[in-house]
Amino acid sequence: MSTNSPKKTLHMNKNQTEILEYDKNHVWHPYTSMTNPLPSYLVDSAAGVHITLSSGEKLIDGMSSWWSVLHGYNHPELNRALIKQSEKFSHVMFGGLTHQPAVELAQKLVAMTPCGLNKVFLSDSGSVAVEVALKMAIQYWHSKNNTEKHKILTVKNGYHGDTFAAMSVCDPVNGMHQLFEPVLMKNLFAPAPKTAFGATWQQDDCAQLAAMFAKHHHEIAAFIIEPIVQGAGGMRIYHPNYLKTCRALCDQYDVLMIADEIATGLGRTGKLFACEWADISPDIICLGKTLTGGYMTLAATLCTDDVANTISRGEANCFMHGPTFMGNPLACAVANASLNILMRNEWQQQVADIEQALKHMLLPLKSHTRVFDVRVLGAIGVVESKTPVDMAAIQKRFVELGVWIRPFGKLIYIMPPFITDLEQLRQLSAAIKTVLSDDACFQ
Ligand SMILES: *Cc1c(COP(=O)(O)O)cnc(C)c1O
Repeated sequence: MSTNSPKKTLHMNKNQTEILEYDKNHVWHPYTSMTNPLPSYLVDSAAGVHITLSSGEKLIDGMSSWWSVLHGYNHPELNRALIKQSEKFSHVMFGGLTHQPAVELAQKLVAMTPCGLNKVFLSDSGSVAVEVALKMAIQYWHSKNNTEKHKILTVKNGYHGDTFAAMSVCDPVNGMHQLFEPVLMKNLFAPAPKTAFGATWQQDDCAQLAAMFAKHHHEIAAFIIEPIVQGAGGMRIYHPNYLKTCRALCDQYDVLMIADEIATGLGRTGKLFACEWADISPDIICLGKTLTGGYMTLAATLCTDDVANTISRGEANCFMHGPTFMGNPLACAVANASLNILMRNEWQQQVADIEQALKHMLLPLKSHTRVFDVRVLGAIGVVESKTPVDMAAIQKRFVELGVWIRPFGKLIYIMPPFITDLEQLRQLSAAIKTVLSDDACFQ
């Protein structure tokens, strides 16, 4: 029980230390402690690739605010879309009502995504998009009167979100959710893909996965995987043949395939969708993070006609999910504007240029004594160190160096906005090189 202090009206003046003090004492941040929080930096504004702190530093954003900002902050076209929609209506319930921004977004997504994904379910965040995908898969088999197929097969080192069903398919050990294990769905885990992207394909890489399909297919509703890049579960980039084999195994054993493209979707890996590297289409795809160009929270789960029709003909007569803010018009309007910018097709050149620059600037760090591995694909650059970073120290150092890079564990990685230019990439890479030589930044 909390100790009840009398309610006070908050008169937050603009005093920065006061704001930060209140933040430290009362505001949870992602994966932080309330008793021993890491410092937060107060943001004043952001434009283009820059985040400006209230303390005056102007930082080049190497994180795209967790994969989401594609075209930069404070983009006139995105701002306009948001303002225009807010002057019509900011929200209406999606039960019984519909609107142009949601329908336009659905049209765009059906046209862009790998073929066959024709039905669109809009939701609020990536984790919810994953929950929706898993529910679709389980309801699909239930509608076919198959009550046995209700487990999910996945691979280790995955990350699919922080809600309960999503946690149950994250890596069981390094997936950050081990303590919840007793109450999670008991799902099945194959070893993580071993053959790196660009390496010679190892035929036996899928052997254990194939064995699990063979042994358990009668109880597996769906197989879920992050195509080509395993994000928050280790920033691992694997061979397209692995993904191709996953599709073949799902077909062979009558298991639905869910592609979680929440981090990889919309150009980040050099293809519009990472599934395209293996030339496959999943039965269900999850999109999030990048969907609104980093403006608002919005996610989508798309599925095939077969999945949607089977669910709809089943005992329940409908799909059993419906969030309050489903299809939020502001989020849909800004998503449409962001996709319009993307479809002008500058992203292909932008991402190719970023990849070339990151390869040139980061791959030489492989020989650094502190570095275990360096990986680059599309607009993603990963430097894996041999020992974990000291978060508070390295974060402070990066800010001093004029960049916003937020590592986790042994992973110092960047996925900058697509508009980042060569000089800015040089500054991001130089900052990484500098911290590698700073003992205080590592445990
Ligand atoms: C970030 C992420 C999620 C979760 O999305 P949230 O919006 O944080 O709920 C799920 N899957 C993948 C692959 C992600 O990168």
